[in-house]
Amino acid sequence: MSFQNPVFIPGPTNIPERLRKACDMPTIDHRSPLFGQILHPARAGVQAVLKSETAEVFIFPSTGTGGWETALTNTLSAGDGVLAARNGMFSHRWIDMCQRHGLAVEVVETPWGEGLPADRYEEILTADTEHRIKAVLATHNETATGVRSDIAAVRRALDKAGHPALLFVDGVSSIGSMDFRFDDWGVDVAVTGSQKGFMLPAGLAIVGFSPKAMEATRTGTLPRTFFDVHDMARGYANSAYPYTPAVGLMNGLNEACGMLLDEGLENVFARHHRIAEGVRAAVRAWGLDLCAASPDVYSDTVSAIRTPEGFNATDIVTHAASKYGVAFGVGLGEVAGKVFRIGHLGSLTDVMTLSGIATAEMCMADLGLDVPLGSGVAAAQAYFRSHSAASVLKAA
Ligand SMILES: *Cc1c(COP(=O)(O)O)cnc(C)c1O
Repeated sequence: MSFQNPVFIPGPTNIPERLRKACDMPTIDHRSPLFGQILHPARAGVQAVLKSETAEVFIFPSTGTGGWETALTNTLSAGDGVLAARNGMFSHRWIDMCQRHGLAVEVVETPWGEGLPADRYEEILTADTEHRIKAVLATHNETATGVRSDIAAVRRALDKAGHPALLFVDGVSSIGSMDFRFDDWGVDVAVTGSQKGFMLPAGLAIVGFSPKAMEATRTGTLPRTFFDVHDMARGYANSAYPYTPAVGLMNGLNEACGMLLDEGLENVFARHHRIAEGVRAAVRAWGLDLCAASPDVYSDTVSAIRTPEGFNATDIVTHAASKYGVAFGVGLGEVAGKVFRIGHLGSLTDVMTLSGIATAEMCMADLGLDVPLGSGVAAAQAYFRSHSAASVLKAA
């Protein structure tokens, strides 16, 4: 694998030079006031990226998976009902975590490639007149299938059913790349990590808790120690941690929020949309289909691309790594071998994206697929030429 090439996996994403430098710092005493100068702006930056005035932001040395656990263990008790749809590997893993914690999960099986079924959520919540369901899980962007779900619709389902359950949203592969509205959507816990939209190395679980979720922490009795938000909040009150923080990463997070907010969140989202549209133009030119069932669920951060029947999609990923030193994502779970994934989130430009499309083409041609060299590149070029960053911004 060449370090000169960008990666096209949907996380960890490419780390901009500015963030590598921010993470590379000498040891400081994390109990000195200096640490507060990193901690407080990083938390405020995350709150702004979440588009929230009220979210209480907690940052753990962990990954997105630890963020899931933070959401569950701080607010729920063994036996509590949880409503979740399974439409890909990440929603599946969060459901599995709930089950291992002794939560009673009502799983709505959903075809991989489709979005969360808000209408089914509404029916189930309406029928739950005793309010056994304490939390509704929603994976905003299913990274395994390249499907973005409508979180506002899930909120409407809760409201129409008049149901008081908490709304937990996995935004690991959407936050900082696609529009995410913590306050407008009435999100109670948002979960993400450092290595996707924030363009940093893996190592931080980043969560936002609403006042209602903070209230639920008083009654939830699942065991929690490392991920206890009250221990964390007590630490923050003294500009400190209950244990040793990942100082360099937090300095990087502070800088990453600065980069996103300087570019402007709407510009960041428009850039991701433009790049994703370029990739989708290439996929169409190749004559291949996306795993995502319809345009309304297309993800702007990752495309899962179906390969023809009888062809092992994972071969493209293996071949790209060994012959060209470029990383694409493999298919996971139910779609293993059936799709390969192009991650297009984080620190990425049109020009970098063209190199990934060109590499995918070489691999498919090498492996005998009927994909003419240059077909996808030309389609993406045409899209990028007619949708420059400036014209997208003017239209927005
Ligand atoms: C990457 C990812 C996760 C898991 O995060 P880790 O940082 O690998 O623990 C969870 N959910 C989604 C949607 C993801 O893309």
